This record gives sequence, structure tokens and C-alpha cells, in this order.
Amino acid sequence: MSGHSILYLGRGEFAAEYLGELETLPCCTYLTRSTALELPEDASYIVDLVLLEAGPMIAQSGHSLAELIAQLAPYPVIALTQKEHEHRGIAAVRAGAQGYICVDDITVEAQDYAFDHAVKRGRMQSRLSSTDVTVLSILNNINDGVIVVDNAGHVLDINPAARTMLGISPRMLPDPTWEQTFCCIDENGDSYRNSADLPLMRARSGEKFADQIAICRIPEQPDIALSINGQGLYDGNGALIGGVITFRDVTESRRRITELEKLAQFDQLTGLANRILFAEQFTRAIGRSQRKAAPLAALFIGLDRFKSVNDTLGHDTGDALLCQIADRLKGNIRVGDFCGRWGGDEFVVCLEDFGEAANAAAAAQKLLLVLSEKYQIGSSEVYATPSIGIAMYPGSGATAEKLIKAADIAMLEAKKRGGGRFQYYSGALNTKLEQREELEAGLRHALVRSEFILHYQPRIDLASGRLIGLEALLRWQHPRFGLLPPARFLPILESSGLIHSAGEWVIETACRQLAAWQRRFELPDLSIAINLSPQQLMHDRLVDVVSTALADTGLDPGCIELEICDGEMVQKRETEHKTLRALRKLGVRLSLDHFGTRDVSFESIDSGFIDSFVLDQALIADVENNNSHQRIVRAAIAMAQGLDIEVTAEGVETVHQLEFLKSCNCNLAQGFLISRPMQPEKISAILRSEIAGTSLLARGMP
Ligand code: C2E
Ligand code: MG
Repeated sequence: MSGHSILYLGRGEFAAEYLGELETLPCCTYLTRSTALELPEDASYIVDLVLLEAGPMIAQSGHSLAELIAQLAPYPVIALTQKEHEHRGIAAVRAGAQGYICVDDITVEAQDYAFDHAVKRGRMQSRLSSTDVTVLSILNNINDGVIVVDNAGHVLDINPAARTMLGISPRMLPDPTWEQTFCCIDENGDSYRNSADLPLMRARSGEKFADQIAICRIPEQPDIALSINGQGLYDGNGALIGGVITFRDVTESRRRITELEKLAQFDQLTGLANRILFAEQFTRAIGRSQRKAAPLAALFIGLDRFKSVNDTLGHDTGDALLCQIADRLKGNIRVGDFCGRWGGDEFVVCLEDFGEAANAAAAAQKLLLVLSEKYQIGSSEVYATPSIGIAMYPGSGATAEKLIKAADIAMLEAKKRGGGRFQYYSGALNTKLEQREELEAGLRHALVRSEFILHYQPRIDLASGRLIGLEALLRWQHPRFGLLPPARFLPILESSGLIHSAGEWVIETACRQLAAWQRRFELPDLSIAINLSPQQLMHDRLVDVVSTALADTGLDPGCIELEICDGEMVQKRETEHKTLRALRKLGVRLSLDHFGTRDVSFESIDSGFIDSFVLDQALIADVENNNSHQRIVRAAIAMAQGLDIEVTAEGVETVHQLEFLKSCNCNLAQGFLISRPMQPEKISAILRSEIAGTSLLARGMP
């Protein structure tokens, strides 16, 4: 027995039967049934603990248990009951007793501990500031678990919610070692190395904390994750006397979060690691590579022309193709290597431990072959060739981000070289990419900052030698790189979608300029050719933009010639057909640009949409020395005449070329021989000279 002064309130026979040991204590007072509710007058001096027999005598006294316990305050009270009446003990605790024991079901040690605990708890309670008392009594009744410890780590209080959560029976009082074992596993499943990090330790050291996730491990039960808040407990003088933690069970919400995190790590369509997970895995692989001083490579795989699969066969087929590609990738990399989907039609592979650098190329070559084989999707046979970029660690970059980026750059280069091949990353490629990125960023502002300008190149009628029209050619006055030709930025405009707004600006500006020239020089038939990118034809807005430009300028639609290319697309797609029909309805002329070098189907030529061809300058350039080009040009012109289609020859640089074209009855010509593309002011001067009969144009005529 701990040597506390104990006052027993209860029947003598109950004490005699169950509390035999107490009888021997000199400070123990037994009250008979008749005086059960009266304290000895001098008790206040000697009583550490009151043992109250929670039995039928209380009811007979005419007082409720709660009244009695309230009357006994501020003494710590332990209710005594028998196992079969345990509910009375629980009721006593609810009414404010420090605890209860079932006298017929308790060991001497446990009883000793319970008494000791009640005394400590009572002492601490008596020292608590009034605010803390209120707070604790509120906490006792909330749904969150609450545990109170004194400054030696003794658990003084566990509220009912905590007991339910932790599966602790109402009678169980944790021993002092409990502080070290309760929630001793951190959220990653590792034991806390430092006991100062344990939630109860933190609280009783006076630290205020929130949302500490810790795992509570109960034998033979699944782990419970708790989110714990804690803080110190202070007496009325502000001295730290213990700590309190409140907590809630977050096992389920954490499980759901983990599930969601898992979902967020894998690509939904293909089941491969997504870019987040891949980058994480790749970072770990870099660590392994460093430790083993073994090489590592990132392969970046992009599909050539995937967009056209999507566009022509539909998104379902496109998705099915991506899934099959993912399967082939998984099935054709070595154990230990791993892959992921970077996004869209882009995949990434990490190669480890491949020995010599050349083996990375062999792996890339193997993937090239495997991925290029036929894909059977439903009843369709689909082919997809990949382009692969290779970046080696550490030569091409020291971090996952840099290596993947480097492999991406190399992949773009492989694509540029025709696709269906692999390409190692090099520093020179990087400079190119940086420039491209700078250009793309700049292009986003080019329109607003009025950095686009149009140059115009004269077109002459070969029979009469008269200037009959101009081709509008886009230029970008870049603040750092100077005047840039379309080859430098058009692909970026097209791939970034900026082509729509830039194209709109070209149409409006060219029409306004033509109208001004027609009025100023009284040349109502002067025409303008405007280049369109294939993407523009897929956008409904194009027709509105053209018709608005016509309405705003009052131009005759026949003076506008829209140059389109990529006849294959034009032939196959309904959207483009619709757009072309609508444009024709407006009365504008349509011409096929780059004729003779790009895919063109006879069907599209014969569709009635096309008013003219522009023979590509590559054909014209060789025409002097290349017999077959001569034959092609002749045949193209003859075919065009048969179909009542006008032919323009572009890139005319020599008198010989011009003479040859005339001899073939080519209709129109354009090229450096006649005039380079010029800014509007210079074209104005040319037009003025034309009407004055003092032409500035060189027409190749002596
Ligand atoms: P294109 O439609 O074939 O335009 C003719 C190109 O050939 C122009 O190049 C012009 O400067 C060049 N050229 C003209 N005569 C000669 C010559 O005698 N010799 C040589 N070597 N070249 C000559 P530019 O301006 O660099 O334009 C290149 C291409 O960019 C154009 O080819 C056209 O497809 C495209 N483009 C130009 N402006 C626009 C535009 O506003 N929108 C769209 N979508 N594409 C445009
Ligand atoms: Mg053109």
C-alpha cells in the first residue's frame, strides 16, 4: 500500500470482506451505514483518498451518487463495487469519481496502483487553473480522445472516446511505461528514435503541437492512425504540471488519401507510372547509379504522327494504341528498368546497369523496332513509329528533371530528322531548345506588342509581264533576334495553337493593305495571296474572320487567294471540307501551295475547290539542270490547264527559269528575279512605278 491516508465510506461488512488489508491502517476510518454520508470533522487534515462503496446503501440514504461525490469534492474518490455491479463504478466515474475498482476482481498491485493514480490525479486536479479544469471537463465529453498525464508521465485521465478508440476497458489504467509505448510509431511506420518526439512526452514537456500523425499499435488488431494535438497543463501559478493530448482516428481518411495518392501516381489509361511517380523513381535510380558508379539513361519516346491517328481513326483508337504501346514497352524492357507515360503520346524509360553506353542505343533500337510493328486495334491495322531521345547520366544532366528534359530535346531532334529513329542528346541541341523556348514565350506577346509585320512579294502575269498580285508573307520583328522568317517561328505558332490568332491578324492586315493599295493606285483587280496553316482550316472561326475582313474592307472576294497545303488532309477530313466549302461560298479563291513536293491527291484537285496551284520552288530551282523536274513542271501545267486551274511558279531566280516557264504557258511567276518580298512602303513605290509605266520590277526581260 502506498501509505496514503484513506477514508472509507461504506458498510463495515463490505470493508471487512474485501478491504481486509485496509483495516490495519491507522488512518482508516470506517463509517457505518447510518453515518455513511458524513465526513469525520477532522478528515480534511488527513484524507488523501476516499473509498466509497458504491452500493445499495447510497440509494437508501436518499442521496444520489452524484450528490454524494459532489459533496466529497475536493477529495479524490474511488468507487468500490463488485464485478457484477460494475455499472455502479462506471456511474461513479461519470459523476466525478477519479476511478473505480471491482473489489472481487482485482490484484493487490492493481488496487495499489489505482489508489495511487487517484491520489495523483486528485492532486493535479486541485492544482489546475480554473480554465484548465473547464477545458478538461469539456474534453472529457467530446468525441475526440483525450489523455492527460502528469509531469512524470503517469496517465491520469483517459476519456471514454479515447478508451473506445484504443480499445481500453473502462477500468484499465495504463502503467507508467505506457507513455513510451503509446503511439510510438511515426506516420511512415518507423519507431520514433527520440522519445522526446512521442506525443505524450511532447505534451508534458509543455510543447504545443497540432496534427502529429502517429500510429497506435494494439496487439492482434490493425494499426490505428491518430492525428494528435497536444499541449502542457499548467497550475494556477503557471507552473507546468503535466500535459494533455487530444486525438482522432484518421486511419480511414489516411487510407483514402493513400489510395488517391496511388491513383495520382499512375496513368489512368495505360496503368504505367505517371510523370510524378516516374520522376521520383528516376531520382532514386540516379542515387543508385551514383553509389554504384554505374551508367544510367533516360529514353524519351514520342510517337510520330500520333495526332493523325487520333484525328483520322478517332480517340478510342488513339487510346487503344497508347495502351498497346504501354504493354509493348513493359514487355520489352529488362527487369530493373522501368517506364512511365509522360503525357499524351510521350513515354519515358529508365535504363540502369547497361554496361557500355552503346548498349543504351541497342535498347533504344530494340524499342524502335518493337514499337514500329503493326498494331491491331479492332478491325484496323495501325502503324506508329516512335522517335526516341537518349540522355545519359551524368553527362546530359545531373537531376531527373534535367535528364528527362535532355532526352525530350533529343527526341524532338529525332522527330525533326524524319522520325522513326533515335538521337543522343547534345549540348548544341540544348541551345536550340532554349532558343525555341524563348521564341515560344515571345510569340505569346508578339501580337500584343505589334511585333508581327507582313512583307509582300509581287506576282506577275507571265504573258503580259504585268504585276497582278502579291503574296503576303509573315515576319516577326523579334526584339533580340531581329527580323525572323516564318521558318523560325511558324512551327511554334502551329504547335502552340497561337497560329489562330496570328493567322487572323495576317488575314485582317493583308486585306486592309490590299484595299488601301487598290484605292490609292486605282488597281481594283490587284489580288493578294494569303498563306493558311492546316490548323486554321479546322477552326470554324476562319470563315467568320475572312467574311468580316471582306465586309470591313469592301474588297471583291475574288481578289483574295487563300493558299492551303497538305492535300491529303484536305481530302480526308470533313471539317476542312466544310470550311473550304464555306470559304468558296464567300467567293474567295483557293490555291494549293507547294505543289509538286507535298502530298496531294487527284481527288482533292478534282474536287472543284481549287482555283490554282503554286508550283514549289524546289521544282523550279532545278528546272534548268533536271530533266525530270522539267517534265513534272510541264505535266503539272498541262494538267492544270485541263482542269481550268491557274498555275503560279514560285522561286523564280533566273531568266532561264522564267523563259522555261513561259514556254510551258505557266500563268504567273514570283521570285527573287522579279522582286524579293518587301515591306509595304517599298511595294507602294513599285505599284506607283507600275502605273507610271516606269516599272521597278525585273521581269527577266532584257
Ligand atoms: P511560301 O508560301 O512558299 O512562300 C514563298 C516563300 O519563298 C517565301 O519564304 C519567300 O520569301 C520565298 N521566296 C520567294 N521567291 C523566292 C526565290 O526566288 N528564291 C527563294 N529561295 N525563295 C523565294 P518565306 O517568306 O520565308 O515563307 C516561307 C513559308 O512560310 C511560306 O512559303 C509559307 O508557307 C509560310 N508562310 C509565310 N507567311 C505565312 C503566313 O502568314 N501564314 C502561314 N500559315 N504561313 C506563312
Ligand atoms: Mg505561299
